[in-house]
Amino acid sequence: MNSIQQNIEQITSQILSAQQKCGRAQESVQLLAVSKTKPNQAVLEAAQAGHTAFGENYVQEGVDKIAYFSEHHPELPLVWHFIGPIQSNKTRPVAESFDWVHTIDRSKIAQRLSDQRPAEMPPLQVLIQVNTSGESSKSGIEEEQVFELAELISSLPNLTLRGLMSIPANVPDHASQLYAFNQLADLKQSLSERFPQLNLDTLSMGMSGDMEAAIEAGSTMVRIGTAIFGARDYSK
Ligand SMILES: *Cc1c(COP(=O)(O)O)cnc(C)c1O
Repeated sequence: MNSIQQNIEQITSQILSAQQKCGRAQESVQLLAVSKTKPNQAVLEAAQAGHTAFGENYVQEGVDKIAYFSEHHPELPLVWHFIGPIQSNKTRPVAESFDWVHTIDRSKIAQRLSDQRPAEMPPLQVLIQVNTSGESSKSGIEEEQVFELAELISSLPNLTLRGLMSIPANVPDHASQLYAFNQLADLKQSLSERFPQLNLDTLSMGMSGDMEAAIEAGSTMVRIGTAIFGARDYSK
């Protein structure tokens, strides 16, 4: 089996060649290492290989990891992204621990995250999760409602809106993948035109099976778990 470091190097080179293929600048796509269900040791291995951005889906697990690393490895400049569904009764620990949230899909969640963000921390960097057409999952806001939610978020003192995120249906063909990602990219473009004062620089889209199409459509952050850390075991 490859080491975590080798896996990261391999994915990084895949990202690079996808960027080159469509003429995008180097380093315009960030790799988010999705460490959900994986032990601190796996994160440490990635971090010691120089990786800093990690994604977590489950609030308690993420909070525990963040606490572990701030206590035992304060020297590592880790940046933690919450990428799972958020319930309104779980916003406080997210607001108190994470650096980014990708999955805001309603005003109540945005409001609570801003209210609960500790004053001594920098604003929480957030993305609106959009349900682009044809998506099988129920999470994410409808495209028509994105503008209203963006307006609200931009008025909240402790959130900084950075862009959009989506999890399109898992389809194998490149053209359908590209179509869904282009929808999100177009929506971000319209949003930037409507809110020129916001610096919307982030499109969180693309996973292991659709990374190339996502990058072609303008993704700035791909979220990869299994290909870095190996298969997840949910039985534990
Ligand atoms: C789990 C997860 C990923 C990573 O999935 P892999 O198949 O392990 O690469 C990416 N994005 C989100 C939102 C996830 O929940």
